[in-house]
Amino acid sequence: MMMKTDSTSLRQLDQDHHFHPFTDLRDYASHGGRIVNRAEHIYIYDTDGNRMLDGMSGLWCCNLGYSQHQIVEAIYQQLQQLPFYNNFFRCSNQPAVELARALVEVTPESFNHVFFTNSGSEANDTNIRLVHRYYDLLGKPEKKLFISRKNAYHGSTIAASSLGGMSAMHQQVRGLDYVHHIGQPHWFAEGGELSPEEFGIKVARELEAKIDELGEDRVAAFIAEPIQGAGGVIVPPDSYWPEIQRICDQRDILLIADEVICGFGRTGSWFGSDSYQIKPQLMTFAKAITNGYFPLGGVMISDQIADVLLAHGGEFTHGLTYSGHPAACAAGLATLRTLQETNIIQTAADTIGPHFQRRLRELEDHPIVGEVRGRGMFAAVELVRDKRSRERLAPDSASAVYCRDRANSNGLMVRQTGDAMITAPPLISSTAEIDSLVEKLHQALDETA
Ligand code: PLP
Repeated sequence: MMMKTDSTSLRQLDQDHHFHPFTDLRDYASHGGRIVNRAEHIYIYDTDGNRMLDGMSGLWCCNLGYSQHQIVEAIYQQLQQLPFYNNFFRCSNQPAVELARALVEVTPESFNHVFFTNSGSEANDTNIRLVHRYYDLLGKPEKKLFISRKNAYHGSTIAASSLGGMSAMHQQVRGLDYVHHIGQPHWFAEGGELSPEEFGIKVARELEAKIDELGEDRVAAFIAEPIQGAGGVIVPPDSYWPEIQRICDQRDILLIADEVICGFGRTGSWFGSDSYQIKPQLMTFAKAITNGYFPLGGVMISDQIADVLLAHGGEFTHGLTYSGHPAACAAGLATLRTLQETNIIQTAADTIGPHFQRRLRELEDHPIVGEVRGRGMFAAVELVRDKRSRERLAPDSASAVYCRDRANSNGLMVRQTGDAMITAPPLISSTAEIDSLVEKLHQALDETA
């Protein structure tokens, strides 16, 4: 059968046959979307000929934009040499070995082992298995509970979404009964009369209260994103992480940093854990490890946990067919080398990151903007009904959706989460491109007000 590939036909076929993630399926089936068929530098192009500045780096993935030909070449070369072999059965492959070593070099000192997955969701599932096995081997089988945060996003598998705190996902499928949630450090929405620093301490201490409630001997781990991303770029007050770290250390609770968005330069350091000087025992990564060009995720495992797993025999009964896929690892390796050779993380932290944050904060003067928050190369612009009283729009309100749609129509890809416009452009953006991003967003705000 010859398929029609003109833009209108493609969109219609997509509406007719393709269920999209996190999408109102009925709405999509009747209205459809955009077919993206080309990308260059920090721009994407659709089949209708529109060029869009990608203010979301794909989906927080393409920190180096779309024209990193050496990553594409590495994938191509690897597919020619060894397109696939598994890592079960005492086998490995060269890119997986080299990437494991390279990751050990760029992650904090305590990490010397990695477990590869295809995605961040699977990596967080892996965390649960690792933690349960760790405590079983230590002879503490009752230590099985996880604590996470409201509004966190840790992935879409049943286990990862249980770790997450997205209420809509919990409503759709009941979460695991050994995961418990505490509040998020969202000062603008929930801080009330407290200063950000007072509020940071208060929310952190919810962890301590939850540990007391559940029992220290039953709580295994606390998982959190250094900066909550999909939940609305919730930048914690400076007091928050030191207090969380103190509680985890004193109460013998493992700390898991989900670096799926924060990792590989997004916050101005290699990892969000570096930015906040957190010392996690496990670190989840995905997305920008391959600059988004190939699916790959994984968990960095600290010596504290690895030593226990290595000291005991018995199988770690967990694995994915594509764990350590050679082409994915080749992509990861080429990405890490590019990050190192271009020194782009430091350069972005010194130049474009501050420019991005400074320019975006100018939007705080806009009548419908309550707060602009962010760090490094990601940020949220929170829309309000009333600037002075901080009265918020209704969650997922029509205005916020409208604002996102206006930005998209003006040639800017941004996301909307609740009342917030989210943006996380590639680290390679120029100052002129950031200026253009801010202007397009400003225009969308004017059109929404
Ligand atoms: N963890 C965080 C912090 C994420 O933002 C995401 C995805 O956005 C995930 C985990 C899940 O990753 P994936 O979509 O690759 O399964």
